[in-house]
Amino acid sequence: MSEKVVLVTGGARGIGFACVRRFYEDGYRVVIADREDTEGARALDDIVADPSRAIYVHCDVSDKLEVHNLIAETVSAFGRIDVLINNAGIALPGGILDLSEEDFDRVLAVNLRGAFLVSKAVTRFMFDEIENREDRSRLTERPYSIINMSSINEEVAIPDYLAYTVSKGGMRQMTRAMALELAPYGIRVNAIGPGSIKTNMLAGVAGDKEAQDKIYARTPLGRIGQPDEVAGVAAFLASEDASYITGQTIYPDGGRLALN
Ligand code: NDP
Repeated sequence: MSEKVVLVTGGARGIGFACVRRFYEDGYRVVIADREDTEGARALDDIVADPSRAIYVHCDVSDKLEVHNLIAETVSAFGRIDVLINNAGIALPGGILDLSEEDFDRVLAVNLRGAFLVSKAVTRFMFDEIENREDRSRLTERPYSIINMSSINEEVAIPDYLAYTVSKGGMRQMTRAMALELAPYGIRVNAIGPGSIKTNMLAGVAGDKEAQDKIYARTPLGRIGQPDEVAGVAAFLASEDASYITGQTIYPDGGRLALN
């Protein structure tokens, strides 16, 4: 088993939980950060009976104090953070004519500012750890990886989900800017841009055949993706197989973007 630690925001369910399970199975120690205590506790029960391998920390990523507490609890439990997955996200409907300011702010606060706050705190921790190394030329011996859960909507817009589209467009550029800034320190930063994945976020189309048919029609592979198919991409990006990849987005989208 590896000593490595992965921190997954929004890790209590959906794509985040699939990442938690995949990294746990790959031997990582995992930190599930989510705002839902019950879901988080259940997720932990499902995957692990040993708290030395996984902890749950209540954290709303848009709240700076809660983010600081998240890092403190992670370091206190495991003493290191090797991989961060900025996965927590929400989608509220509305276009330019009907989206409220409050909903616009909320989506940006969770999806973009939340990823910024957690990345900032984790990067600060990584830097302190790097500074303490006796031989800085050995930076690449313990490489770090940050993975932002973006969306195909960083590339294609959905007009009636304006704030969501804006947040994921911002995430694309945040990924690139962070990758450039952190590359000299051996910290790789990449994004994943899923298409339609079967989670609560897609609950609205669960019983709606017309909506499902629309998704199938614009997805060359002709089906909705599973959370595990996104977690596999995260596992790859965190691995040594991706050691020369930074500043990129990989799209597990069933071919959706190839249509445009
Ligand atoms: P889910 O709604 O199933 O899961 C999201 C998780 O994030 C939930 O546990 C949720 O908690 C948590 N969360 C929400 N807000 C916060 C917050 N402020 N602080 C901490 N945790 C929070 O969604 P998905 O798994 O589908 O989405 C995960 C990511 O994948 C998102 O960033 C989303 O934009 C992205 N994505 C999803 C796609 C899809 O088709 N499903 C497609 C493209 C991208 P709670 O239950 O309390 O809301």
